[in-house]
Amino acid sequence: AKKEGGDRYQFYDLEINEKIKLEQKIENALYHAIKKKELYLVYQPIVEIKTNSIIGTEALIRWKHEKFESVSPLKLIEIAEQSGFIIDIGKWVIREALVQTKKWHDLGHSSMFVSVNISTIQFDQPNFVEMVKNILEETSVPPQFLELEITETNAMTMVEEKLVKMRKLKEMGIRIAIDDFGTGYSSLAYFTRFPIHTLKIDRSFVNGIFHDENAKTIITTIINMAKTINIATTAEGVETPDQLKFLQGQGCDKVQGYFISRPVKSDQLEALLKEKI
Ligand code: C2E
Ligand code: CA
Ligand code: CA
Ligand code: CA
Repeated sequence: AKKEGGDRYQFYDLEINEKIKLEQKIENALYHAIKKKELYLVYQPIVEIKTNSIIGTEALIRWKHEKFESVSPLKLIEIAEQSGFIIDIGKWVIREALVQTKKWHDLGHSSMFVSVNISTIQFDQPNFVEMVKNILEETSVPPQFLELEITETNAMTMVEEKLVKMRKLKEMGIRIAIDDFGTGYSSLAYFTRFPIHTLKIDRSFVNGIFHDENAKTIITTIINMAKTINIATTAEGVETPDQLKFLQGQGCDKVQGYFISRPVKSDQLEALLKEKI
């Protein structure tokens, strides 16, 4: 019996080893990804419900790599965070998203904003605000067209330091959005302390609208409370017309999701913009 147990452990260890080896390979490949121009961004339109028009996009990272094409963005970000590459990658994402947004402005879509996901490690860098300021100047995008997405759980650590940074960013005209809102079990009252522009209602609640009474209640509560404290709401993961109708009825401001469009490459987004004008 002891031997059997031992074997099982060995097998178990081997699996972990394989996993570590694979992650190491991914990490090595990721190290060269920026220089080799393997990283690119896709853009998911954000639609204002009231006007039914695309008013912005969320930039999402993708990796074109012959072996690791299937590495999900979440895994990529996780490995980038563990290895510290997130600092360079995160900076690259902000610059790339702004360069693209500037192009759209120049094409006549002059009020398009771009929303960029910021990892905790990146946000907590002492020079984060300065870095963002420099990239905005370099790319000539007015700050009001940049939104930074910080997850709800991120916003709940190192609160005082984050508050200082968020206030500076707001003073510069940059918008802060709380991503995946509702998953971190914080109360909305807690967020009245933060200079927040938008709450992004997590996809899981939108997904539950028609099978889960709780999800409906949560969404309605978030939207109503956000209104009373003057914070905008964006619903993520809208996949059906019924979900959109429900959100519209509740007074949600903006939507994003496969029902409108999947995240697409910049030229495809341009086509979507032309279509809607
Ligand atoms: P997120 O910020 O919550 O982004 C939304 C995710 O939901 C995206 O997945 C998007 O493709 C997906 N999505 C959008 N609409 C729908 C829908 O209607 N249905 C479903 N089922 N999914 C939808 P993606 O692109 O795989 O990104 C996953 C996560 O990876 C993001 O979640 C974000 O946390 C992270 N991520 C992506 N790009 C970046 C980045 O540049 N920097 C950082 N720090 N994180 C990033
Ligand atoms: Ca996001
Ligand atoms: Ca989200
Ligand atoms: Ca998420």
